[in-house]
Amino acid sequence: MQKQDCHPVITEDCINCGACILVCPMEAIEISDSGNSWKIYWWACNCCWACARECPVSAITDINA
Ligand code: SF4
Ligand code: SF4
Repeated sequence: MQKQDCHPVITEDCINCGACILVCPMEAIEISDSGNSWKIYWWACNCCWACARECPVSAITDINA
């Protein structure tokens, strides 16, 4: 079940730097083995938006934004 009402997604602007995964306190962001496909698991996310603040290219946004 979703903990809060936020839906962060990683857009195509992502440059695969990995910064978001390091700052996420919930380990809600996962990278695929190929290194170019990132997912944010909403069921784990606590909507702190640390990932979006850390992202150097503003690639993380709310899907409803
Ligand atoms: S909003 Fe917070 S908890 Fe959710 S994916 Fe980003 S850093 Fe992780
Ligand atoms: S911090 Fe931004 S650019 Fe870096 S991997 Fe995460 S979404 Fe992509």
